[in-house]
Amino acid sequence: MPVTLYNTLTRKREKFVPLKKTVGLYTCGPTVYNYAHIGNLRSYIFEDILKRTLLFNNFKVKHVMNITDVGHLTSDADTGEDKLLKGARREKKTVPEIADFYTKSFLSDINKLNIQKPDILSKATEHIAEQIQMIQQLEKKGFTYTAGGNVYFDTNKIKDYGKLAQLKLANKGKSKARVDKDRNKKNPYDFVLWFTKSKFQDQEMKWKSPFGEGYPGWHLECSAMASKYLGNQFDIHCGGIDHISVHHTNEIAQSEAAFGKKPWAKYWLHNEFLVLGKGEKMAKSGDNFVTISSLEEKGFDPLDYRYFCLGTHYRKPLMFSYEALEGAKSSRRKLVDKVLEIQLSKEKKSKENSTKQKKYLDRFMNSVNDDLNTPKALAVVWELLKDEKLNDKDKYSLILKFDSVFGLGLNKLKEETIPSNIIKLAKERLKARQNKDWVKSDELRERICSLGYEIGDTKDGYELKKI
Ligand code: AMP
Ligand code: ZN
Repeated sequence: MPVTLYNTLTRKREKFVPLKKTVGLYTCGPTVYNYAHIGNLRSYIFEDILKRTLLFNNFKVKHVMNITDVGHLTSDADTGEDKLLKGARREKKTVPEIADFYTKSFLSDINKLNIQKPDILSKATEHIAEQIQMIQQLEKKGFTYTAGGNVYFDTNKIKDYGKLAQLKLANKGKSKARVDKDRNKKNPYDFVLWFTKSKFQDQEMKWKSPFGEGYPGWHLECSAMASKYLGNQFDIHCGGIDHISVHHTNEIAQSEAAFGKKPWAKYWLHNEFLVLGKGEKMAKSGDNFVTISSLEEKGFDPLDYRYFCLGTHYRKPLMFSYEALEGAKSSRRKLVDKVLEIQLSKEKKSKENSTKQKKYLDRFMNSVNDDLNTPKALAVVWELLKDEKLNDKDKYSLILKFDSVFGLGLNKLKEETIPSNIIKLAKERLKARQNKDWVKSDELRERICSLGYEIGDTKDGYELKKI
């Protein structure tokens, strides 16, 4: 059963055929000047589902993600403020401190969401030499020009500029969204490869280069790092839809010009936005900013948000509301309870059901392999759980297979078997024991017992078991 993916480059669903034995996957990572919001995290969940689906289909995957820790600009049009510097001023920290803090927070978020860590997480600041080398390659081939102290990519030198975004090049000069006030540019679509003259003041991060002391343009790091770790041509490149028209378009232009391979990446996959009422995009600059920690403070488990994302196809906008998230929370709770029930079931595995099991497995695979149709795959899970003709053990082994794609942690439900109210009582009892309040401790033990749990004392605290 082939994996079929919607390729933004061709605007078609295509059968996935890797270039080599190991699939090269590059996903644009976070700019670490603030917390990731749950919209950003929707992107990383989608990319994780993609990677897990490939692994489920027995492909080997090498996944590279960049960490943008060079201070880039707040506008897509190479203008505006340095985002990292803005963050540093806001928090009265240095730029490296800001980058370090938000990189750690990003890693903690993806861990909570059960997103598999990329094989290579590469920081832009640690790959300045590779970026300089790429500009030199472009320079040698005649794709650059220098103006006002900066090195530009000359988009007029390539015939198919803008193919990913299907930009109407006839309107090139008239494009409002892309025109900025940089008078050094020969064409409005040209972009900076290396800045020596900042368009904003007090640029902090600077490196020596053959083009003068300065810093790289914001599209360059992905091209340089993807080629370093995945070669000059690779399989899949992902990001949110906002990256199509500028960032990915420019990554393609400079990479195909430098490496001479077309297409530079074979499949381009983009997720739609997480939106709020009236379709407004959740944005880091907006005041509508929700993080994983703020969801946790409201009593949600990060996996409730993961489940919420799985319920909508990645290429459809996802409307966020707390009511909708409550719905996902309650469905995930039901799923966890049901899986625990079948996990603990004493029923034996049966052989007769293998045809039926295969049917479910095929239906699940058909769904995820069909451009990652997770809503359909979830429906298969619920149908399976309700099927009285299948034995619990068989259901459980199928669910674990499915969860290798969903990533809802259904294979490690032990800790979750204990409801939060029981854990709260156990903690209260531990405190009572530490205060040598034996009467309260005994009372709490009895309460826990009346709720169906046995509590024992250990060196480090306590142990709970279902009676
Ligand atoms: P950034 O840290 O701003 O570079 O964004 C990280 C990723 O999040 C990129 O792939 C963006 O396209 C994506 N993204 C930004 N806003 C949203 C949103 N509201 N919904 C879904 N993805 C988003
Ligand atoms: Zn990128």
